[in-house]
Amino acid sequence: MKAAVIRGEQQIEIEDVPTPEPGPDEVLIKIKYSGLCGSDVHRFQYGMAEPGSIMGHEFCGEIAAVGANVTEWKEGDRVVGGGGSNPDGIPRPTSGPRYSARTVGFKTPGWGGFAEYAVMDGWRPLKLPDNVSWETAVLAEPCAIAVHAVRRSAFRVGDQVVVLGAGPIGLLTQQVLQAGGARAVYVSEPAPARAEAARKLGATEVFDPVSEDVVSRVVELTDGLGAPLVFDCAAAKPTLQQGFEMVRRGGQVTVVSMAWEEVPLLTVEWIGREVEMKASYGAAPEDWQIVIGLMEQGKIESGPMIGKDSFIGFDQMQATLTRLMTPQDDIQSVLVP
Ligand SMILES: [Zn+2]
Repeated sequence: MKAAVIRGEQQIEIEDVPTPEPGPDEVLIKIKYSGLCGSDVHRFQYGMAEPGSIMGHEFCGEIAAVGANVTEWKEGDRVVGGGGSNPDGIPRPTSGPRYSARTVGFKTPGWGGFAEYAVMDGWRPLKLPDNVSWETAVLAEPCAIAVHAVRRSAFRVGDQVVVLGAGPIGLLTQQVLQAGGARAVYVSEPAPARAEAARKLGATEVFDPVSEDVVSRVVELTDGLGAPLVFDCAAAKPTLQQGFEMVRRGGQVTVVSMAWEEVPLLTVEWIGREVEMKASYGAAPEDWQIVIGLMEQGKIESGPMIGKDSFIGFDQMQATLTRLMTPQDDIQSVLVP
């Protein structure tokens, strides 16, 4: 099969590799779409992926073969590659003993979704409802991140909420908040195409942080108090500080995106308002099940996030990952293996 193999820092090669064979408890998935995640870009950019490994953890496809002990799947079943509940006796996957759970599809990093096929334990994939399109299904993993963040936060029905950053995670957080009954979702995003997607997805207002004073706008729209809840989905240098400035007394800032550099903070803004900061990382099987439910109910829209320009072939992987190393105006790139 064809696969995009890491060959060094910022170097990916398209190679013919043996198609993996499922063990007795495993399934083989023929990949339909595989999303390029910010974390793939970071691993590519900083040389954090092992040479010889295949990245990619946001994918959907069809079961192509099942191991002898697997009873719950048959060939042709439509699945998302991850999110299944770990059976008794198998611990929840984490990024290391000191880190929180992160349920992606793979047992071992190094054999991922940037390939024509992927193999995984039979319990790991999730069944896709018939009415959920492949374009929506490929957003399941980032949507699970958004659901996890909203469920960890202090969000309550009727809240006015701010989402900083309208990349895939921001736009999915926005949709989850809307589905959960937010009174208003204000989005701050400088890139025009991302701002437009937030608008199409029903944001109450979209601010341009370059030309507008976002903090003042939020305070104005919340009766002079500030928003009860802010999600930092940007991981840009100024956004965490902005979050502390626009949140109301006793409010909460939930940090979803990861900054890979130091971010400046004026703690007086945080302490003076007794703001709570919450971190959210990864997703648990229950978050993924909620995602599948939301998608089945039509509450997660992929149209404004994935357009015809989103799809790339293997030959565009190197160029696309390189381009994504600097912030872009496009929203979600998807490999069609
Ligand atoms: Zn991801």
